[in-house]
Amino acid sequence: MPITKAPDKPAYWLILSRNKLVRIESQSTLFFARHTELQFASEYIDSAVRIGEYRQTECFMLDMEQQEPDHHNAELIGLRDALISENDDAFNIIARAWQVAVFLRTHRYCGQCGSQMQRVDWELATHCHRCQHRCYPRISPCIIVAIKKQEQILLARGRHHKQGMYSTLAGFVESGESLEQAVHREVMEEVGIKIKNLRYFDSQPWPFPHSLMMGFLAEHDSGEINVDGEEILEADWYTADSLPVTPPEFSIAGRLIKAALQ
Ligand SMILES: [Zn+2]
Repeated sequence: MPITKAPDKPAYWLILSRNKLVRIESQSTLFFARHTELQFASEYIDSAVRIGEYRQTECFMLDMEQQEPDHHNAELIGLRDALISENDDAFNIIARAWQVAVFLRTHRYCGQCGSQMQRVDWELATHCHRCQHRCYPRISPCIIVAIKKQEQILLARGRHHKQGMYSTLAGFVESGESLEQAVHREVMEEVGIKIKNLRYFDSQPWPFPHSLMMGFLAEHDSGEINVDGEEILEADWYTADSLPVTPPEFSIAGRLIKAALQ
């Protein structure tokens, strides 16, 4: 929930600058301080947003936008690098802070009438006082699925993957579609096969920039792999002892691959 006044007691802070996270003399981009210690960000303190709690302590986000922190020990860390090294609780609060910052930056003006939006002070939203249009942070549902065929798993190299990285199939849910329909459609579109025995696995907020990944396990039903050549460049069946480079386990893709092969 947004606030207009920073807390007097020490809190955890996440500070964004130039689309990175600020880290100061610490292993983490989450730092514990009184707001009066944040001299380098003092002009932004009034725009602090309460993000939630971390280790039973309030946590706030400050967005310095294009301003760099004037602090001799400050480093700017990319979101992915910041998340890799954190535990699950820190991952979730950093992911949330990032998505809130993206929301506030991209909802300065009303999408309906073009007027300037104001922050709502009791819920995380922006409001247009001219036409009463209200916006909430955008969350984009996305399915991700590990498909098995006996002891093998289908892994694919997508156009947007890092060089040499193979992963499970994933895609955005379209308007009017259920999660299950999205899984069947994406699999058919991307690799041309039918799947069966679809079951839910787990979910993960994925702040690039505002996805909610919903993971499924499934089995091959029929059809041969035929990649679309657009999103997916290559795909094949792999056994546990012949895996290519796959995503790390902090991502739901990495956990799905592990679960499918167990
Ligand atoms: Zn409006």
